[in-house]
Amino acid sequence: MQKSPRIAVIGAGLGGAAATSLLDKAGFNVRVYEQAPGFARLGAGIHVGPNVMKVMERIGIADALNSTGCHPDYWYSRDWKTGEVIAQIPLGDYALSHYGSSYLTVHRGDFHELLVKAIPSDRLAFNKKLSKIDDRGDVVMLHFTDGSTEEADIVIGADGINSKVRDTLLGEALPKYTGYVGHRAVFPISSVRDFQHDMCTKWWSDDRHMMVYFVTGKKDEIYYVTGVPEETWDMSKSWVPSSKDEMRAAFDGWHQGVQSLIDATQEVTKWPLLERDPLPLWSRGRLVMLGDACHPMKPHMAQGAAMAIEDAAMLVRCFSEAGLDDHAAAFALYEANRAERAGRVQLVSHNNTWLRTNENPDWCFGYDVFNVPLVSPAASV
Ligand SMILES: Cc1cc2nc3c(=O)[nH]c(=O)nc-3n(C[C@H](O)[C@H](O)[C@H](O)COP(=O)(O)OP(=O)(O)OC[C@H]3O[C@@H](n4cnc5c(N)ncnc54)[C@H](O)[C@@H]3O)c2cc1C
Repeated sequence: MQKSPRIAVIGAGLGGAAATSLLDKAGFNVRVYEQAPGFARLGAGIHVGPNVMKVMERIGIADALNSTGCHPDYWYSRDWKTGEVIAQIPLGDYALSHYGSSYLTVHRGDFHELLVKAIPSDRLAFNKKLSKIDDRGDVVMLHFTDGSTEEADIVIGADGINSKVRDTLLGEALPKYTGYVGHRAVFPISSVRDFQHDMCTKWWSDDRHMMVYFVTGKKDEIYYVTGVPEETWDMSKSWVPSSKDEMRAAFDGWHQGVQSLIDATQEVTKWPLLERDPLPLWSRGRLVMLGDACHPMKPHMAQGAAMAIEDAAMLVRCFSEAGLDDHAAAFALYEANRAERAGRVQLVSHNNTWLRTNENPDWCFGYDVFNVPLVSPAASV
């Protein structure tokens, strides 16, 4: 009897956890290796659009997510100084009826916890930091920093922006600093004085912005993330502490809605916004990548995790469609059906134009990874 191919997923972040669940549900022999010692409620806010909720429905955590997150009625874009509404994009009930799935904002940690819990425990290994990959042609040897090794037939690199799998395929190279930082803070709404916030607002000026939304269904925790130009970044640091004074200087003269949040800030951190140019390949031999490992982007469409999760679902769909006897064909089908969309989202995110005006977001939110017609690799060139 033939053994089913052993699939190793590297990284149990949002993309890797989704891939592992979906592979397990589809009957594949999968195991995910995560460097962290266990689950931790990391990160802050994240948008989960209908395009992602389609995947969460398949994984079986859509109801739990719906009761955890906040369901904004609209995405408001507002002028930095006057507060005037410059765009108003319907979400809420409209998203449910128009796209068939909801739109919500949630704490990334709460979302991640639901995804990790959906993975059967025997499929998940924590404390496994991949240090070296040896693709021998007929099998891949995975080496971990604890000295252990594992064999796999297929390796999925879901190991984020500094991916070891990407380094193996393309050589070590730091991501590019975009010249922008993001300040991030989450705190109780009860500490915000003198302003009634919408459920989801992006405040815009010509060179910077602040995105604001609730991260719980109870609307008791509010989150902001900015995009602010800053010439240089020390790439040895993944983030640094910021302060109310720095925020006041960066948003001097901005509307009271923004000032009310800065005044209420308890702790604020500053992150570099990083990206990579589109990669020349997404797979080689027995290795394939998804998410930030192959297309990290500025967060300005709030779709980075969404692209990782859509990638995961499409990869599993292509494994089922093409079979794993010829994994190169499955990988090619996957790339053919993901590269254009991920590249488009990467570009719009880079340009930071998303929903600044009353544009139609259907191409993004209306995407259904399980039902979109597949294009063949030859047709996509
Ligand atoms: C400020 C900011 C705001 C954002 N807001 C949003 C948003 O609203 N919506 C959205 O969709 N996206 C958002 N994003 C983007 C999103 O966070 C990422 O795009 C997303 O997390 C990528 O998922 P991933 O699974 O590819 O990688 P990650 O989530 O980074 O996961 C990678 C995993 O691999 C593990 N790993 C790494 N190296 C190894 C190794 N050698 N061995 C084993 N394990 C390893 C890591 O520990 C981690 O668990 C935002 C990003 C930023 C910076």
